Amino acid sequence: MTVAVRGGTVVTAQESRRADVLIDGERIVRVGRVPTADREIDATGLFVLPGCVDLHTHLASTPTWTPLDGFATGSRAAIAGGVTTVVSMVQPEEGSLRGGIERAIRDAEASACDFAFHSVVTDPTDAVLAELPGMAEDGFAGLKVFMVSPRFTEKTAEYLGLYRAARRLGMTVAVHAEDRMLIERSTAALHLAGKTGVAYFPASRPVEAEVVAVRAALKYAAETQVPTYLVHISSGAALEEIRRSKAKYESRVTAETRPLYLHLTRDRFERPDAALWVGQPPLRDRADMYAVWRALADGTLDTVGTDHVPYTRARKLEPGLSFDKIPPGVSNLETLLPMLYSEGVRKERLTIERLVDVLATRPARIAGMTTKGEIAAGMDADLVLLDPTATRIIHASEMHSACDYDPYEGWEVTGWPRTVLLRGEVAYDKGEIRAAAGAGRLVRRSTNS
Ligand SMILES: [Zn+2]
Repeated sequence: MTVAVRGGTVVTAQESRRADVLIDGERIVRVGRVPTADREIDATGLFVLPGCVDLHTHLASTPTWTPLDGFATGSRAAIAGGVTTVVSMVQPEEGSLRGGIERAIRDAEASACDFAFHSVVTDPTDAVLAELPGMAEDGFAGLKVFMVSPRFTEKTAEYLGLYRAARRLGMTVAVHAEDRMLIERSTAALHLAGKTGVAYFPASRPVEAEVVAVRAALKYAAETQVPTYLVHISSGAALEEIRRSKAKYESRVTAETRPLYLHLTRDRFERPDAALWVGQPPLRDRADMYAVWRALADGTLDTVGTDHVPYTRARKLEPGLSFDKIPPGVSNLETLLPMLYSEGVRKERLTIERLVDVLATRPARIAGMTTKGEIAAGMDADLVLLDPTATRIIHASEMHSACDYDPYEGWEVTGWPRTVLLRGEVAYDKGEIRAAAGAGRLVRRSTNS
């Protein structure tokens, strides 16, 4: 079965041009002039983008936690938003990374989009290190480390051993960089002063905590040469550290930000319902927001990951929760692309080619997904036909997430997917999800050695 997507403007990380795309089965076979196909899709007036690859979600369950958006609802939000591949964090099970992966694969049987994983290492034991070669070989080539966890401070040497093993095997380590000591100290001081309300959340996780940890992460990256992926960078000062390090080519570091830091600032924390926007790190100042946009445009940042992990309004606003007990995270999968287009491309902060680079091409390369993130012959036919004139106001009630609020409720956004293809099949069309639960497939990640 062949499909021709005709008359659109095909965008890659390098250029935009009027071209048709011919798909045969699951793959793109030609871009340019293409013959008549079994099925024709008219893309006149639309941008044809590669499906987005989100390297940061939390759709997989753990033995003690079931996400509000698991793969079933989360992947529908993804598809409706033009995200055709999600990477979920996966917790180990009984100390085993492989055990965690097995649980995540069972969860992902409900996925409507393609998926892969980062395995969170909560303790770099010898048993965990022994699992790595098999994991890398089977396509589970991504690890995640929380510098903010007590064990990281206690066992830094063991973690560096993990980094070196990952480096030898060609695995990538995603790092949550916030300094635990600084956060604990600020949190304790605020509690002591009786300042436990959500308004103090930003003060409890200051920019300094991010900067100190990013500096350390860059040092470890340079020392071990492990490909290091810094997640959800939020501040101008941390970006400055990354910019300097990249300019020196001293490490293989890449960096992600999160939509929250592009669109919102800490003045949300003056509102009584501020808990709805609690994520880690917190929202920052306006100057940081501008710095994040600049870094996204100039290559200091490589990608935008959603960190999609919503909780209900009631759960976020539970009375009596101190700022450090509010569950962190928001919904973002369905709005990632439309908002980056609307706020970024339309407002001339980013070119559309750069948007494609940061939402598709770069993340696919970082994660070792060799058939994703590009519109070219031989690649998976994951396509987003984006209507640059479609305007919608964001209402949680119209979103596919199971969450009952949206962090951007009431925001007017121009530029939405009209049609989304997942490996050649129409997965979403004009407001309707066509991909069934289970249409998604595991993407095995190649190593980068
Ligand atoms: Zn996260």
